Amino acid sequence: MWTNWSGGQQCRPTATVRPLDDSGVSGVVRRAADRGQSVRPVGAGHSFSALAVTDGVHVDLSAFRGVTGIGGSEDRPTVRVRAGTTLGELHEELTARDLALEAPLELAAPTLGGALAVGMHGSGAGLASLSAAVVGLRLVDGRGRLRDVAPADLDAARTSLGALGVVLEAELAVVPAGRARVTRAPRPVDEVLDDGFWSAHPVAEAAVFPSAPTALTRWAHPLRVQDPDDDTDDAGETEERERSLGVTVAGATGRTALGGAVVVERALPGLVPRFNRAVSRLARTVSATGPMHRVLSSPPAVRYEQTEWALPRYALAAATRELLAALADDHLEVGLPVRLRVGAPESGWLHPAHARATGWVAVRVPRGTDHAPVLERAWRVLRDHGGRPHWASRSDWTVEDTAAAYPRLPDFRRVRDDYDPDRVFATPALAAVLGD
Ligand SMILES: Cc1cc2nc3c(=O)[nH]c(=O)nc-3n(C[C@H](O)[C@H](O)[C@H](O)COP(=O)(O)OP(=O)(O)OC[C@H]3O[C@@H](n4cnc5c(N)ncnc54)[C@H](O)[C@@H]3O)c2cc1C
Repeated sequence: MWTNWSGGQQCRPTATVRPLDDSGVSGVVRRAADRGQSVRPVGAGHSFSALAVTDGVHVDLSAFRGVTGIGGSEDRPTVRVRAGTTLGELHEELTARDLALEAPLELAAPTLGGALAVGMHGSGAGLASLSAAVVGLRLVDGRGRLRDVAPADLDAARTSLGALGVVLEAELAVVPAGRARVTRAPRPVDEVLDDGFWSAHPVAEAAVFPSAPTALTRWAHPLRVQDPDDDTDDAGETEERERSLGVTVAGATGRTALGGAVVVERALPGLVPRFNRAVSRLARTVSATGPMHRVLSSPPAVRYEQTEWALPRYALAAATRELLAALADDHLEVGLPVRLRVGAPESGWLHPAHARATGWVAVRVPRGTDHAPVLERAWRVLRDHGGRPHWASRSDWTVEDTAAAYPRLPDFRRVRDDYDPDRVFATPALAAVLGD
């Protein structure tokens, strides 16, 4: 039995195969197609949606790891990375080569293949998703053929939901590595709902509780070489000191405090708003310096279900206010705050931030609490503000919604007909949002 990270999705694949090389993947796809079975590549299972669920064949890419080459030019370096590489491994391999992702991602566990398929993003007004960094892709298509994706098809393939094939390797644009200073600070909710907050910091995010007037925020700025703000030689030590100083209360995803809120929620749900207000009041400002991916690293304190929506950026403030009021009025406040992030417009035809500056709103419900009423309430509000759900998150999105919200869907379907004419990679979850 396969289960995803949150425990909310399960399936019993006919088989789980772990090919060791490209021809092994081609063979798996060909054999499954001959038997009329569907094929689903699976990464770290960190998606909350049913995208990785199948009763066909699961393809585990964990043998496809590591950076296989450096390319591009001195000004615009690129790296070739195998699709089963986890983001944590990718960050460390890039650091070892004095390189980094331009748009930092905070979670280590997802694989490159899974993160690209769903358009994984961080937060910064000028920062796009990991998919946007793709300059080349190699995959095995639905006929078992090894293909380098043509430049004209790249905007279909960079965020494909796994519908076009099993991605084996991606070439990513990267930047020279650098150090950054991250600050975690409490701020008035009104301040983070103002555009000025998001334009003041290249990396920024906020977390807000329906009942609290204070948001928990986090922002980061790159440091120049020998910047006077870079007051430590050892990022690891700084991060440790930061944790022991109480960042757990101050952090936008503060671990202990949020874990505590979840315990309160299970035992005494009526006390959640009061506990959340106390967490926000206790928050203190703390800073740390180090490589960007390390200072942003924030492993989750608890397991949860999530819905996250990409809204037009101009709608972020109004939608958030309406959402917070709706959750408070309907007594649906939980121990995890609503998370706000921003991102640049994406070229990927199926990326939720396609062609528009985006404000991301995520609602999380700890495991053990009935998530349906909270998530359903959030869907109603966020959909009404022009939202498109993150493909990895839970939603009630339909193929009709995709057709209305994604103007390049017809182009994506044309590419899909070429790469997977027999729909070897189809699943019910894909059919629900992309059609047959
Ligand atoms: C605690 C937590 C924090 C998160 N934080 C963020 C965040 O900050 N930003 C964000 O955007 N998302 C976030 N997510 C969601 C996360 O980005 C995605 O779930 C994750 O990127 C998927 O990677 P995975 O390896 O787990 O893929 P899986 O969930 O296993 O698979 C996801 C999809 O990718 C496809 N796929 C996997 N490998 C391949 C391949 N080689 N070729 C083709 N298709 C493939 C699968 O078929 C499936 O359709 C978070 C999730 C969790 C649980």
